[in-house]
Amino acid sequence: MLQTVAAFDRLGEENAFAVLARATALAAQGKDVINLGIGQPDFKTPGHIVEAAIKALRDGHHGYTPATGLLATREAVARRTLTTTGVEVSPETVMIMPGGKPTMYAAIVMFGEPGAEIMYPDPGFPIYRSMIEFTGATPVPVPIREENGFAFSADETLALITDRTRLIILNSPANPTGGVTPRSEIDKLVKGLEEHPDVAILSDEIYDVMTYDGERHTSLLQYPEVRDRLIVLNGWSKTWAMTGWRMGWSIWPNGEKSANLYDKVRKLAVNCWSCVNAPSQFAGIAAIDGPQDDVETMMKAFDRRRKVVVEGLNDLPGVSCITPKGAFYAFPNVSATGWKAKKLASALLDETGVALIGGPDFGILGEGYIRLSYANSEENILRALERMKAFLERTR
Ligand code: PLP
Repeated sequence: MLQTVAAFDRLGEENAFAVLARATALAAQGKDVINLGIGQPDFKTPGHIVEAAIKALRDGHHGYTPATGLLATREAVARRTLTTTGVEVSPETVMIMPGGKPTMYAAIVMFGEPGAEIMYPDPGFPIYRSMIEFTGATPVPVPIREENGFAFSADETLALITDRTRLIILNSPANPTGGVTPRSEIDKLVKGLEEHPDVAILSDEIYDVMTYDGERHTSLLQYPEVRDRLIVLNGWSKTWAMTGWRMGWSIWPNGEKSANLYDKVRKLAVNCWSCVNAPSQFAGIAAIDGPQDDVETMMKAFDRRRKVVVEGLNDLPGVSCITPKGAFYAFPNVSATGWKAKKLASALLDETGVALIGGPDFGILGEGYIRLSYANSEENILRALERMKAFLERTR
């Protein structure tokens, strides 16, 4: 695949950043803005993680690390993977990446080219489609439906595979819907994929431990039958409130059977970013090995707010919202309000100061929905819901 200047015109955007910029501009003009648009925890990175980075700097860790990441950081990821999935992975399959997104980029450019098809969730994280189009491959949306609790349907996914399919992107728990795909559906999907041995899988598991009501995330790593064509995306951004640190990891197939994908991504790192900055990699170890109390406190807060959000949304005229089982987003159906979703999102920001995102920013099937991130205080969420209620009653 050789990219041209024209390919860059096919790159999309992540509208959450545009909404954030607009919300910030309105706030600067003195407007009381409540931001439910942004997909990052409103918590600070736990103190012991910050201290570990400061210590690494003081101890003189100022230089390059291996392109794949420090062995100690990769070993920490392997330990964490064993704890969360029960699966042993070798540190020689772990890549430390500058955030979650670079894994998306690496995997999609490896498999995307004109003529190839790449399947991705719709509604889903907007960068999947953007990056697929960048490579010239054909994006094939996999419908993610409210009536399935916003989970993947194995049957619907398998039915879309053709002899041109090169990669399937999965995401659970999901952005923007909060949907969690049940193990039974993943069992069925993996079984069906056995008939398509040339189709690779990118499983975006960045919200893996962010689940509620006893729901457990199923990792694709738990299926050895697809391990030699599986790339798992994960990272520190969400779980430890570290979005600005740019710390992610991914697990790749390593060895000849899998076309040495691990070595290919290592070479990409050598060419593009050399390595992730050293102090952050030490912070990453502290995040994994240190106390998890702050993560638990954050998740308890998210759980409380989730209930407040869902109850409040279902009380709005024309709005209905199923209870999300993961991540920190609610994806209410607003089709009965009479508003087009994007128009509603921008009117809410302009007229009430509530920033959120229109569903169409996440795909064709996002029409009729809006995304609220509940990474904001309970008090602000309640104020936002009140304003939304008054606005929807006024404009009925
Ligand atoms: N994958 C999903 C599903 C996300 O929602 C996000 C961020 O919003 C990412 C990946 C990217 O994470 P990072 O900020 O670490 O690049």
